[in-house]
Amino acid sequence: QLLKPSVVNTQSKMNGHCNESVERPSSVVVYSKHETSRKEAEDKTHLPALEAAYTNILRELGEDTARQGLLKTPKRAAKAMQFLTKGYHETVEDILNNAIFDEDHEEMVIVKDIDMFSLCEHHLVPFFGKVSVYLPLSNLSCLFSFISYLPRIVEIFSRRLQVQERLTKQIATAVFEALQPKGVAVVIEAAHMCMVMRGVQKMNSRTVTSTMMGTYLEDHRTREEFLQLIQHN
Ligand SMILES: [Zn+2]
Repeated sequence: QLLKPSVVNTQSKMNGHCNESVERPSSVVVYSKHETSRKEAEDKTHLPALEAAYTNILRELGEDTARQGLLKTPKRAAKAMQFLTKGYHETVEDILNNAIFDEDHEEMVIVKDIDMFSLCEHHLVPFFGKVSVYLPLSNLSCLFSFISYLPRIVEIFSRRLQVQERLTKQIATAVFEALQPKGVAVVIEAAHMCMVMRGVQKMNSRTVTSTMMGTYLEDHRTREEFLQLIQHN
């Protein structure tokens, strides 16, 4: 389901600012739909239990958990898993922090190949690849200030337990709510280690997912333009 901004403020369109220091009027979008589920401060408290769980996993895999090479493995693995799911710590609202991006233009802009690393929630194994975001924009100063946030938005949603389709949709929704563009399309191309390493998928094959919102979904011409673009890239 697409999350629509709760309130759209038409006033802010007239100001034409995209500066971080500008205070956002209280009527503008709230990202309450992206609440965190784990606070960073809680990670330390959870570490011992996670560590014990990893010791169990190693033991049940038939390993000698007392051997030299594995002594610190449960702790390392627990910390690594917390790091790989640290996207739960932050919300998009946290990082945008009242930034306003006003846009009302037609040109298509592509932000290509943002690195993405995530964990498949079915197997707890990595999948990784590239995220590309397509926007109808032309005000370059607003665009550049927004582009700088994109990798962090991608991080927030990718550093969680994920499936690629949901990740694609969440990034598109976040951009749509933050920037309120006429449309947004997000394409993710990724390799899933749970498939590659089990031989289900060839080493070099990629899974491609895309989400379209606004004009990319509704406007026939924009949609065609977008589909042609991604075929040639
Ligand atoms: Zn998987």
